[in-house]
Amino acid sequence: MLFSELAAYFDSIENISSRLEMSTILAEMLSKAEEKEIGMVIYLSQGALGPRHKALEVGIGEGLLEQGIAKATGYTKDEVAKLYKQMGDLGLVAEKLVEGRKQGSLFSEKLTIAKVFGNFVKIAQAGGKGSQDSKLGMFAELLNSASKVEARYIARVPLGNLRLGVGDPTLMDALALNYLDEFTENKKTRKAIEKGLKEKNEEKRKEEFRLRARQGLREVIEAKYNIFSDLGAIAEKLKAKGLRGLDEIDMMPGAPIRPTLAERLPSAEEIVKKLGKCAVETKYDGFRLAMHKNGNEVTIFSRQSENMTEMFPDLVEAVRKQIKARKAIFEGEALAYSEETQQYFPFQVTIQRKRKYDIAKKAEEFPLRLFAFDIMYLDGKNLMARPFRERRQILGKIIGKGEAIALTKSIETDSPEKINQFFLESIESGLEGIIAKDLNSPYIAGARKFAWIKLKRSYKGELSDSVDVTIIGYFKGRGKRTQFGLGGLLTAVYDRESDTFKSVAKIGTGMSEEMLSELESKLSKTSVKQRPSRVDSEIEPHIWVEPLYVIEVRADEITRSPMHTAGRDKGGTGYALRFPRMIKFREKRPEESTTVEEIIAMYRKQPSVQVEGTVAES
Ligand code: ATP
Repeated sequence: MLFSELAAYFDSIENISSRLEMSTILAEMLSKAEEKEIGMVIYLSQGALGPRHKALEVGIGEGLLEQGIAKATGYTKDEVAKLYKQMGDLGLVAEKLVEGRKQGSLFSEKLTIAKVFGNFVKIAQAGGKGSQDSKLGMFAELLNSASKVEARYIARVPLGNLRLGVGDPTLMDALALNYLDEFTENKKTRKAIEKGLKEKNEEKRKEEFRLRARQGLREVIEAKYNIFSDLGAIAEKLKAKGLRGLDEIDMMPGAPIRPTLAERLPSAEEIVKKLGKCAVETKYDGFRLAMHKNGNEVTIFSRQSENMTEMFPDLVEAVRKQIKARKAIFEGEALAYSEETQQYFPFQVTIQRKRKYDIAKKAEEFPLRLFAFDIMYLDGKNLMARPFRERRQILGKIIGKGEAIALTKSIETDSPEKINQFFLESIESGLEGIIAKDLNSPYIAGARKFAWIKLKRSYKGELSDSVDVTIIGYFKGRGKRTQFGLGGLLTAVYDRESDTFKSVAKIGTGMSEEMLSELESKLSKTSVKQRPSRVDSEIEPHIWVEPLYVIEVRADEITRSPMHTAGRDKGGTGYALRFPRMIKFREKRPEESTTVEEIIAMYRKQPSVQVEGTVAES
């Protein structure tokens, strides 16, 4: 497949907002890609050069990118920078300038996907003396041979975002569309789908059948993605062997698993009502890590599946020393711990261990402890389907002698009083609260189900939990805030069903001066002229931004709102956060923001809400 064909598909995707249309075009694009290139097509659609946990950084920042565009087109760097200021997108700048190329290119060739991808990989790997020049050379070589539309996407690759508005769920939908016939050839599958059909009219029934089949297959693909986070490799298997190819995909140390997530309930009584006898664990306030051991090789992933191995040499060593298994994948919460005071450090101290420099020094100053809470894989066996109680027993058995890795503190009980007591003890020792766990539940990768329920410290007059929202736009500052260029944010929650971001709050408080300037510097780089296709908001900010950054927000309560689009019902009333205040940036992907469903569930659980839509007087 030529890169020009891929760029043409990208161009048409960029201009549509209907998800169904988008996945139909993506499906066609993927069906045209050959086996050897489909992985690259998927990664480029994700704005990356490989699966997220292994993706290379192109290593061309904005300044160098301007230089590269100048080099390839014959304009000066200042001219490029000026145009960038006007257009706000280096992709569009490259597109415009290649048209008026001042210098004829000597070696113009038709670009293939492999050539474009290959050059970027080489650029990413280039290092050492003179590497800047060779990076620029390889980048300019691509632009030299690029048409206008090709140039737009080539220039966006180093920025890690092609601005297509395509999320992983839409890519999975597209893959599902391409294998629907094979999926429904299977008699058992067909019968199972037909059983659930409600439509009587034959045409409509066919449509419903197709829709359900698509959802069904999408779930099958997603289940694989949840345990093996490499959509490119999954697409390759599908291309090579059809659906049978999926059987060859299983978890393995070194490939991240999407984490299971906790639901919320407001009290110990409700937890017992839901789970009966359950495990109740201390909720530690550090960061979640997945530890992968393969012989002597240890890989550590963050909650977002980023490779953090280099950052935590102390934990790598601890896994080698303490874990009595050849191969294992297990999870825990890491916290800085003071040997002297025998106390945990607060989150602000622990977070200092997330760094790229001075790693050894900080590791000595603030050694980490890992409180292990689950195990998914052991010596070739997938343990996800085993009940939690059994997994915890297995986990306990493989943790050998040592200080750094220990099991989380836990009790088993069906008494709300005991849970409350355990909760208070946790709070008193400076921790966040508790997590209750269903003793019989499997490990549910990538989903928020009632297998885990969190109960956190609640602040009077506040929602008991904070929410994570994605920034979709901002308002210019007035008065004292004029100097920051930013006075408030427009934010959204994630709607899984439509893979879109729906507005939920305007936020003007909680930001310190440093936060304001950090926000401005981050957001001004991702501003766009129009509302991005995956954003659904009727409120217009002064400046729209790509949905990229997630922040944690506290609010007093959730109210119904005619202004916001989150959870809108037929009457046009959505949900909004009342008195929202920004707490901090979150290292989450936008799709991991709080969802519309969660907002509605939190709304219903508020003490003052009786029936949906009616607010009790208080
Ligand atoms: P979420 O991870 O649910 O999207 P979040 O990042 O805001 O939201 P919390 O709401 O604080 O996290 O609760 C879940 C997190 O609590 C887990 O992801 C994990 O990092 C942490 N945690 C601390 N102690 C435990 C424990 N004993 N068992 C499971 N998770 C724990």
